[in-house]
Amino acid sequence: MIEVIRGDITALTVDAVVNAANSSLLGGGGVDGAIHRAAGPRLLQACQAIGGCPTGESRITPGFDLDAQWVIHVVGPVWRGGSHGEPDMLKSCYSNSLDLARQHKVRTIAFPCISTGVYGYPQREAAKIAVAVMQHAAKDFERVICCCFSAEDESIYKQLLA
Ligand code: ADP
Repeated sequence: MIEVIRGDITALTVDAVVNAANSSLLGGGGVDGAIHRAAGPRLLQACQAIGGCPTGESRITPGFDLDAQWVIHVVGPVWRGGSHGEPDMLKSCYSNSLDLARQHKVRTIAFPCISTGVYGYPQREAAKIAVAVMQHAAKDFERVICCCFSAEDESIYKQLLA
């Protein structure tokens, strides 16, 4: 079952939240900064030990001070016009996160709108990819949540899932 929620992903009670990180995994702005603030300094230590992550891949850490047991860090593509492999990389972000989630027996998972903030991916194009991958995997989970921060994203996801 795929749900659309509008709000702060760090406030959700789920098994895993997905973080739209950068390739250093050392924190940043946007949802990444919010997750690091809410999870506390042990998250940065855990990420330092991992030592980075290539675009399109994902890595898992505990959620520390979050309600979520796990944080799945993914590095979305920076939008460069769309003909530099961005759609495939974004698709990999969602599918690799869901693979890691299955491996860790995650039943409930929340995603932010990966790449659509500072990384500039057009929201609707990104949402179509997100929804397609989630729909393919939804049967393996109790809840798959699209956690939108803006009203615009919420309405895009609701339209796509209607
Ligand atoms: P990226 O670098 O992958 O574009 P951003 O963090 O800049 O990542 O933006 C990704 C999405 O996360 C944007 O839609 C942004 O509005 C949203 N976002 C920012 N803070 C939060 C939060 N606390 N919870 C959920 N989504 C958030």
